[in-house]
Amino acid sequence: MCKTLRVRWPLIPKTAPQPWITCSGCGGLRPFRCSGRIRLNANGRRLDAWLIYKCVNCDRTWNRPVFERRNVRDIDPAVMEALQSNDPDWIRAESFNIEALRRKSKRIDAFSEVEIGKAIVDEAPGWTRLAIELAAPWPVDLRLDRLLAAELKLPRARLTALYESGGIRTEPDGILRRRIRSGTVVLIDFFAGEERMALWRGLVVGDGA
Ligand SMILES: [Zn+2]
Repeated sequence: MCKTLRVRWPLIPKTAPQPWITCSGCGGLRPFRCSGRIRLNANGRRLDAWLIYKCVNCDRTWNRPVFERRNVRDIDPAVMEALQSNDPDWIRAESFNIEALRRKSKRIDAFSEVEIGKAIVDEAPGWTRLAIELAAPWPVDLRLDRLLAAELKLPRARLTALYESGGIRTEPDGILRRRIRSGTVVLIDFFAGEERMALWRGLVVGDGA
C-alpha cells in the first residue's frame, strides 16, 4: 500500500458560459454574457423569472427563463428569497446551469480561466505518492496537461515525458490531453526523499496547507 498525500482541486471557472443567440441589435448570432441580474414578472399567483444576458457586442438583452408561469406556492421559499434579493451567489450558480442554456442555444462557449480551491484530503506520514482529485462542478474548457503544466510549473514537454515514463498517471487512463472532467485523479510517484517533493507539495496544496 502506497503512502499518499491526497489533495482535492475544485476548479471554478471565472467566467460563466456564454450562449450564442441571434441578436436583434447586431442582426446575427452573438455570444451573450450573464448580466448577474434577475427579472421577475408576477401575474396573479403566477410568476416568471428570467436571468438577463447581454450581447457582448451591442449590450442588447436576452432573457433566459429560470421558470415561467410558476404558481408562487410551488416555488421553494429559499429560491423566492434569492430571486427577490438578486442574491449574487444564487445567480452565479444559476449562470452555470449548462442544461438550461443548452435548451436555448446550440453553441455555448465555456472558459479556461479557473480558480482552484486547493485542499488537503489526507496526508500519510512519509508519503511517496501524490494523488490530485479534480472536481469540476461546472464545465471548464481546459485541457488536463495545460492545467498540470501551469500548476506544477513544468514545461509541457517535461510533463509529457513524465507521463510517458509512468511517473505521472491519470485515472481514467490516457486523458492527459483531453478536456478536464470532474472525478479525474492524477497520480504522481516519487522516490522517498526526492528533492522536488517539498516543492511540489507546496504547489499542490496551495493556501490549503
Ligand atoms: Zn448584439
